[in-house]
Amino acid sequence: MVSRFDQDRFQQQADVLNIVLDHITQGIVVVGPDYRTLAFNRPFEEIFQLPAGSVEVGTDFRDILRVWARETGQDQQMLDLAIKELDEQDSFEFEFPQSIKGDIRWCLLTHNPLPEKKGFVRTFTDITKRKALEASLTKLSREDSLTGLINRRTLMDILEEEMTRSQRYQRSMSLLMIDLDHFKRINDQWGHQMGDDVLKNFASQCEEAMRENDKIGRWGGEEFVMLLPETEQSEAEDVANRLRSLTSSMVIRPHTGDSAVRVTVSIGIASTQAGDTVETLLTRADNALYDAKTAGRNRVACR
Ligand code: GH3
Ligand code: MG
Ligand code: MG
Repeated sequence: MVSRFDQDRFQQQADVLNIVLDHITQGIVVVGPDYRTLAFNRPFEEIFQLPAGSVEVGTDFRDILRVWARETGQDQQMLDLAIKELDEQDSFEFEFPQSIKGDIRWCLLTHNPLPEKKGFVRTFTDITKRKALEASLTKLSREDSLTGLINRRTLMDILEEEMTRSQRYQRSMSLLMIDLDHFKRINDQWGHQMGDDVLKNFASQCEEAMRENDKIGRWGGEEFVMLLPETEQSEAEDVANRLRSLTSSMVIRPHTGDSAVRVTVSIGIASTQAGDTVETLLTRADNALYDAKTAGRNRVACR
């Protein structure tokens, strides 16, 4: 027989556990074998902000999912999947975005089945901050912080992909190796900050002048690479010459109010040939750039 003393102790423990469950950051729900909701904590209600009355002990959890899908902007496919996964007999984790009162919030769900198909326990964590951090880290690792263009590593990844595609479909692709002329002089004359401004201006101008499928990235220092998929050499020459003349007419005013800075570029072009690799294409573009430089700069050369 359970004594009065034990009963009190159990009740106290249950009260404490309820307090704990309501004051942790994760939403928790316990669902029985017939999809009946057996228990949930306050954070579970708060994380989804469903209309009052939609989550009660005894509610069919599939009905809660239907309300959730409607309120958080999930499509039918997502709802069907969510309902199907209720029967999953292995634990799993799942991250998904949802629209909560107009805000996109990310949620981490863990599904923990109870033994003998007695239902499951699920936890829900708001991971919006972590997702934003992940996104900004990815952006940092793929972009050049000064110009906002993709960086060399990202360019290499894209180059490899485009090279494979170009070979598979036997389509030409061209690459422009672009280097600002006498850039050291700009730094020497106007200071490093002015040099940075020129690089930023040049980058945004390239982006504006680019065709939709072209890609440009900062290769390093004052060097840029533009990738032109599905483009033969003669067409690439047109693109390069347009860029060259656009750059020579670009005017950048220094903060000091002195006369405007002008800049020119030299561009080396290489277009794909049979047996090319990313490395051979880059080497030819590099050599063509060298030709353009030695021929007097502010010009375009092909190899
Ligand atoms: P060339 O016409 O032969 O290309 O001459 P150049 O002066 O442009 O070439 P060089 O390679 O001698 O010098 C490149 C300069 O670019 C040197 C370096 O200080 C400058 N530079 C590289 N990265 C940056 C940057 O991020 N900001 C600024 N302000 N300058 C940079
Ligand atoms: Mg240079
Ligand atoms: Mg250079």
